[in-house]
Amino acid sequence: MPSFIASYDAVPLDFVKGDGFHLYDKRGRKYLDFLGGWCTATVGWKDKEMGDALVRQAKEGLYVPPVFVSARCEALAKGLVDLAPGKLRRVFRATSGSEAVEFAIKCARASTGRPTIVSIDGVYHGHTYGAAALGDACVPKMGPRPEGFLKLPMPKTVEEGNATISVFERLVKEHGDIAAFMSEPFWTNAGCFVPPEGFYQGIQKVCRKHGVLLAMDEVATGMGRSGKFFASELWGLEPDIICLGKSFTGGYASMGATLVTEKVFKASRGIPDYSTFGWLPQDLAAAEKNFELIVKRRLAENAGSVGAELLAALKPLEELRKVKQVRGLGMVFGIQFPLPIAPVVALACYRKGLITALSSADTLFFSPALAMDRRTAMKGAAILRGVLGYKG
Ligand code: PLP
Repeated sequence: MPSFIASYDAVPLDFVKGDGFHLYDKRGRKYLDFLGGWCTATVGWKDKEMGDALVRQAKEGLYVPPVFVSARCEALAKGLVDLAPGKLRRVFRATSGSEAVEFAIKCARASTGRPTIVSIDGVYHGHTYGAAALGDACVPKMGPRPEGFLKLPMPKTVEEGNATISVFERLVKEHGDIAAFMSEPFWTNAGCFVPPEGFYQGIQKVCRKHGVLLAMDEVATGMGRSGKFFASELWGLEPDIICLGKSFTGGYASMGATLVTEKVFKASRGIPDYSTFGWLPQDLAAAEKNFELIVKRRLAENAGSVGAELLAALKPLEELRKVKQVRGLGMVFGIQFPLPIAPVVALACYRKGLITALSSADTLFFSPALAMDRRTAMKGAAILRGVLGYKG
C-alpha cells in the first residue's frame, strides 16, 4: 500500500525529467506534455535561463523571514501592478493559488465589512477551507462548511448570462451584506467554459453600482495564458482584487500573489499577512526570471496565436458523434464527450505519448506551455485526431 497520497485516482506514470514541451518517465519514454503542469507551464521545462537563475539563487544560501523589507519583492510586485488592469497597486505574498484566494476573501471581507462572497457554481478555487467553500471543493466529510458563500449558476448563453446578472443584482439588494463577486475570467477547471458576451461587463456594472468588489481568480488564467497577460483584460475588467499562482513561476517554484487596490489594501490593514515560505528567495528567483521571459519572449501573444491555431485544428472534431464540444481560449482547452468516453480517450492519449487530463468525468482538459510552438502543438492535435479516428 503506498504511503504517499498522490491523488485518489493518480495516473500510474512517474515522470522524472522534463525538456521543453516533453516529459520523460522512469523508463525513458518521451511524452508530449499538452497538460503543461495544469495551467502552470510558461517557458517550458528545463529552460536554461530559468535553471541558471534558480541555481544562482540556491548558491546564495539565503532565507529571510517576511519581517524585513525586500527590494527584490518590491521590484517584482511593482512590475506586476504596472501591467495589471485598473487600479491594482499592492501585492500580498502567497505560497500557492489557494493561499492567494484566501487573501482575496480576507481582503474583500475586511475592506467592506461585509461577510458574503458570491461566486459561480462548479468552479475550482483551491483546497484550503475558504477557497474550497468559494469553489466546489467542500465536501460534507470536511465538516462545517465555512459560512458566507453564495453561488450563481454558470451561464452558458447570452440569455443565461443576462439572467445571472439580474439574479446577482437582486441578491446584492436583498442581502445587503455582499462583499464581492469572485470568479475566474473564464472557467478553466470546469472544462474551459468562456463566459457569454457581455456577462462580465454586466457583473462589473452591478458591482460598481452597489459598492461590491470585483475579485478575479487568475491563478489559472493569469500571466499570459489567455493571450493577454491578465485574462480580465479580455472583458475590459478592472478588478479590485486579482489572484495569481500556477504560471507565476512557470512550474519552477511555489508562489502566489494577491493584487489589490490601494483602497482595499488600506481598509484591509491589520489582517495577518505572515507567511514563512511566502516568496522565498529561490521562489522569487524563479518568478522574476519567469516574468521577465514571459514579457521578453512575448509568450502571452504566442499563447493567443498558437492557442487559436490549435483550437482551429481541433474544432472539426465536433463533427464526430462521440465529441460533444471542443472549447478553447488561449492555451486552455476542454473537449467534452458523452459519458463514459473521456477517460478512454485520456488513456489512449497516454499510450500514444500525449499527456492530457480529465477536468471532469466527461471532459478532457489540457493547457500547453505558453511558449509551445505551432509545429509541436499540431503534433499533439494529430495524436488527438488519430486517437479519435478523425479522418477529415
Ligand atoms: N484557483 C484556480 C482557478 C485554480 O485552478 C487553482 C488550482 O487548480 C487554485 C485556485 C488553487 O491553486 P493551488 O493548487 O496552487 O493551491
